[in-house]
Amino acid sequence: MIVSGNTKNTIKEFNLKEKGQNIPRNYNADIKLAIRAEGKYIIDEDGKRYFDGCSGALVNNLGYGVSEIIEAMYEQLKTINFAHPSRWRNKKTEEAASLLAEFAPDGMNHIWFVSGGSEAIESAIKLARQYYCERDKMSYGKRLIIGRWNSYHGSTIGCMAVSGNIPRRKIFSPMFMDHPKIPEHYCYRCPYEKEYPGCNLMCAEELQKTINSYGSENIAAFIAEPVVGSAVGALRPPDEYWPLVRKICTENDILLIADEIMTGMGRTGKEFCVNHWDIVPDIITSAKGITAGYSPAGGVIIRDEIMNAIKIGSGHFMHGHTYNANPVTAAAIVEVVKYIRANKIIENVEVQGQLLNKELSKLKSIPIVGDIRGIGLMYGIEIVADASTKETFPISVKASSVVTQECAERGLIVYPYMGMVNRGAGGDNLLIAPPLNVTEEEILNLIKILKEGLNAASDKLLK
Ligand code: PLP
Repeated sequence: MIVSGNTKNTIKEFNLKEKGQNIPRNYNADIKLAIRAEGKYIIDEDGKRYFDGCSGALVNNLGYGVSEIIEAMYEQLKTINFAHPSRWRNKKTEEAASLLAEFAPDGMNHIWFVSGGSEAIESAIKLARQYYCERDKMSYGKRLIIGRWNSYHGSTIGCMAVSGNIPRRKIFSPMFMDHPKIPEHYCYRCPYEKEYPGCNLMCAEELQKTINSYGSENIAAFIAEPVVGSAVGALRPPDEYWPLVRKICTENDILLIADEIMTGMGRTGKEFCVNHWDIVPDIITSAKGITAGYSPAGGVIIRDEIMNAIKIGSGHFMHGHTYNANPVTAAAIVEVVKYIRANKIIENVEVQGQLLNKELSKLKSIPIVGDIRGIGLMYGIEIVADASTKETFPISVKASSVVTQECAERGLIVYPYMGMVNRGAGGDNLLIAPPLNVTEEEILNLIKILKEGLNAASDKLLK
């Protein structure tokens, strides 16, 4: 039987009886078949080439087909492809841990390897809880994780509970424990209607107020992205924000979890984004760029003192997955770290990031462009109906999808997101985040197509 998908924009046809169907992310979206990839391009079934202007979802940080990574994984597959982590250690994972620790701030030498971002967040949350239970001799008070509104930390129930992503929480929130949330540093639409620096960072001070109202004896951690990724579109905090948050966490004896799943591995022009402010979190979660898309992976990087409390306590993290510390994944991590160092990728982010910033700022005059913000090779463009009032398009217009579509037709992939304004009622943003080995020529070409796509979308949306 052939049926039509229920959508205003795209009519898709599905054969319900066809055997063995992969479930797409969205039956109502026009999700193309990717045939192969070359360098920084994905090629579809018609042979059309698309420049990957968002590195998949800030994953493919080194482009496609990097032979060093592929060969290292192949060698590892031949040597030993799997050794169950409850019975075996393996050399590659130990090498990956020592290399990755060099990217993290000093004193963060313990790494728990997992298969993706959500697993990393789940692990971080459970580790924070277990740390306090062990350190405080099984005093079970510290159980809450403070998060922020307009945040995304993953799709599992535990991750959703600490995330503040209103559209995504809607139907699932009755299923999870409610953890406190504070406002994010959304300066373009300040939740307190203040302006930096006159605001005195009320959004960070809110952390202290929330700790006071719930009681620090009940709180295990605060979790946030150093620069907000998809949920608001490369929202960079004022420079005092993270040092202040670190101070509040320390003074109140709660752990600081930096979710660097998007921002880590050089994306912002430092190995990890927290290095911009010289702060040491208690836990960093990493994924995506950790293998640059060559293997599903994540890592939880833990401050020595935290892990030592568990080492000398129960002696084991009460958590585990079959694919923890997988040697093939570890081979990809080792090669990615070596590649980043050998090819001066972080230095390239610095140089090309400045060019991207300069060129993006020229797009401000396009009527639907509200705000442009970011750091390194991670930029967000906020799409608005009226740049002078910051009025958003109604969510039903799907303005960010319209821009994305216009860009895709011209051979550029960007990353859209909706729903960060008025509790999910409006708000559109795009992430622009090319691979970290992008060249000047590629940035200029990206900007050229983006400009055409934004102008075409502007004409359509404002007509
Ligand atoms: N945290 C952040 C900041 C993310 O951007 C994501 C994914 O987009 C996750 C966590 C979840 O990672 P994964 O999709 O690998 O489970």
